[in-house]
Amino acid sequence: MLGMAMEEHMERCLTDVGALVDQEKRHLNYLRISITDRCNLRCLYCVPEGRIPKLDHSDILSYEEILRLVKIGTRLGIRKVRITGGEPLVRKGAVELLGRLTRIKELEDVSLTTNGVLLAPNAQRIFDAGIRRINISLDSLDPKKYAQITGYDRFEQVWAGIQRAQEIGFAPIKINVVAMRGINDDEIIAFSRLSLDHPFHVRFIEYMPIGNSRTRARDQILTPEIQNLVATVGELTPVSNGRHDGPARRYRLSGAHGEIGFISALSHHFCNRCNRLRLTADGKLRACLLSDHHEPLKTLLRDGSSDQQLSEIFRIAVGQKAVKHQLGPNDVSAVRDQMQGIGG
Ligand code: SAM
Repeated sequence: MLGMAMEEHMERCLTDVGALVDQEKRHLNYLRISITDRCNLRCLYCVPEGRIPKLDHSDILSYEEILRLVKIGTRLGIRKVRITGGEPLVRKGAVELLGRLTRIKELEDVSLTTNGVLLAPNAQRIFDAGIRRINISLDSLDPKKYAQITGYDRFEQVWAGIQRAQEIGFAPIKINVVAMRGINDDEIIAFSRLSLDHPFHVRFIEYMPIGNSRTRARDQILTPEIQNLVATVGELTPVSNGRHDGPARRYRLSGAHGEIGFISALSHHFCNRCNRLRLTADGKLRACLLSDHHEPLKTLLRDGSSDQQLSEIFRIAVGQKAVKHQLGPNDVSAVRDQMQGIGG
């Protein structure tokens, strides 16, 4: 008995020494990794007008470099990884990377965020790679409007991907909808109804003005307004959060197979619960989505620096994590970097 207590104590001490804990006592155990800045869509709210400069291939972290950082991260307490982009599935070898990540035993959760365009042909391989939780971004159920928002006529491909993911058995399948006034606010009810017949978690995300996109703060609709619209479909009962849940406040419409979630970075920020770090495709470690502050890792990764030195950079980034972001409703963007580069 004494032996077991001692072992637990030792484990706790080790965790405390190794863990990434910031000045607010937040445990940062979740790393979101953008594996590419390329995307096969040009969403209004994400991509600026005109030609966007692309990262040079040599500036993008290799999979080996990403895996090395993840392993260092796990020694510092990272337990959850999400692969994102740009669009992660456009990068060659993305599915193999997912498989290599799910085999890292310290990681309790590995998930994927995708726009779904390339999901149908890859869904089985992604499932076989060990991924179960998948987030699919979809801002319209109307093919024409989908094309207006994304710049491409690819709704049917995405819908086929969602159906395929459901057949194969991914769970949960989260559908992320960025709600925008005058653009897709007339579909909030249709998206809510989707959760009645399907086991999908439909999550309404408040639009954040980030970088130089083609939408503006005036396009924002905040959660209270969205929630009122959803409530016209039926009674919303709160669902308690699970271990791997993020910041969404979860509800179920009465009789629904799926759920509704609200992600309210502006109207109800969740900074006090934020456990995230972000790694951009070109190797910058960001402690806050809504701050351009970052620590560069790429040069160190390539100049023979030790794991210890790289761990130090994680600690520096964590030490600089803002207590809370400063973006309020209707503010103009405080972030110069583009969402596509940061990874969402
Ligand atoms: N290509 C993938 C996708 O579409 O899901 C991953 C990258 S995308 C940048 C990640 C998420 O960020 C998507 O759900 C997208 O809708 C969301 N996003 C992008 N720009 C946003 C913004 N300005 N405000 C809120 N969410 C945004």
